[in-house]
Amino acid sequence: MSWVENSAKNLLPLSNEKKAFSTALREWLYDGDMFDLENPIEACELCEHPEIRYQFKIVNRFNGNELLVGSECINKFGITATDDLGNVLSRDASRKKVSKDRRHLVTEARKKRQINSLVRLAGIDKDFEISAFIDYVQDRGAFTPNQLSLLFWRFEKNRISYNSLDFKVVIRRDREKNQLRIMPKWKLRQILPSLSVSQRVWIERPEENISPNE
Ligand SMILES: [Zn+2]
Repeated sequence: MSWVENSAKNLLPLSNEKKAFSTALREWLYDGDMFDLENPIEACELCEHPEIRYQFKIVNRFNGNELLVGSECINKFGITATDDLGNVLSRDASRKKVSKDRRHLVTEARKKRQINSLVRLAGIDKDFEISAFIDYVQDRGAFTPNQLSLLFWRFEKNRISYNSLDFKVVIRRDREKNQLRIMPKWKLRQILPSLSVSQRVWIERPEENISPNE
């Protein structure tokens, strides 16, 4: 069966409209409930696409039936989303809401992995003062170049696995720019994957006065 046939087979019994798939689709709404399973372990309950990690709940507005589906399905079938006040959105705005919500889940997962590596480090390295780092990253969403360099060095020393892409660097003040200007090349290489594209451009050509902000 194709994904459209699968979807019709799964959606029609739960809809008031039992025959016309496109009519039945209009009974369903996505109103912002979404979940991160942390691993791609579930199948989409609509099209049966396997290995879904981010689940979006769609609800039938007439009978309250629910399905947990992938974000792709909401977009492919043009399922309507509602805003935070429950207003029905246009197709375009619905797409935007789904992408925004998906990005939110991805960002939250990244932050969680980041905090997890800090917690693992604190469990092993007694000299590591985790609270200052957690406070800083929760406040700014990123670390200074020196903080990040120290962190990565400690992760490696204690053999803690981490993904440098989960970490972000803040380069807003002169203090942070100066840290990068005098940072040894090998340290810079270590934190480079955590930098945004514009931050990397700034590092290569600081004289052009490009803003290193994200
Ligand atoms: Zn699907």
